Amino acid sequence: MDDPLPQKPGFRRRVACPVCGARDIERIYSGSYDRDPVKSLVASNFASQGLVDWNLLIGVALDIDKCLSCYLIYQVEEPDEAMLNVIYTQMITPRFLDEYESKLLSN
Ligand SMILES: [Zn+2]
Repeated sequence: MDDPLPQKPGFRRRVACPVCGARDIERIYSGSYDRDPVKSLVASNFASQGLVDWNLLIGVALDIDKCLSCYLIYQVEEPDEAMLNVIYTQMITPRFLDEYESKLLSN
């Protein structure tokens, strides 16, 4: 049996509240990773942490919903496992995390 192809990093859209499962939601923000203001925010946030692979963010929405049942505010697009790996190895480098955690522990 062949090994499955490596998963391309991406995002899944949540169709219900991740806490209570309700589908009665309100969209409170709609944006995109490849357009401002989200693009500038991502660029400035990760500038000191690692490298952003913008090819993985082309056309990816950044929508924020509010659950009308439990009032949780959450990001509709959640990174899949491959994207989480990119985020926590490239966008946030292990070196940055080590230094960040050391700072927290020494304060
Ligand atoms: Zn909820």
